[in-house]
Amino acid sequence: GPRPPAKARGGQAESGGQPTIFSKIIARSVPATILYEDDKCLVFRDVAPQAPVHFLVIPKRPIPRISRVGPQDTELLGHLLVVAARTAQAEGLADGYRLVINDGKHGAQSVYHLHLHVLGGRQLGWPPG
Ligand code: IMP
Repeated sequence: GPRPPAKARGGQAESGGQPTIFSKIIARSVPATILYEDDKCLVFRDVAPQAPVHFLVIPKRPIPRISRVGPQDTELLGHLLVVAARTAQAEGLADGYRLVINDGKHGAQSVYHLHLHVLGGRQLGWPPG
């Protein structure tokens, strides 16, 4: 019979350290609307925005997921948060916004290259689904 529809918002399985689409965005072999870049991170608009403003902050070093970080990542993770906040300000999100990191299956992570979602530009609900 017909396959059931792909899960609406379930997580993708982690696929063993393979490069992801985000590596290709870093390498510029896949296009993206880039908002900010420095030697450690890249910020670009989400291709399927869930709010009027929805962008992603990623490290250039491909850490697969937040549950895999260690003490050596402390400074990088702090940098990602500072860049997220500064880019939110530059995007005009003066009334607030949300930062999200999805981890693994239950977190509905679909791309296994660590990323912070920044969502804003409308009233968001709580709790998330
Ligand atoms: P996750 O579910 O937290 O892993 O989020 C992955 C996000 O990446 C989703 O919001 C997708 O819409 C987004 N995404 C996937 N592919 C691309 C792309 O090629 N460009 C920009 N965003 C993407």
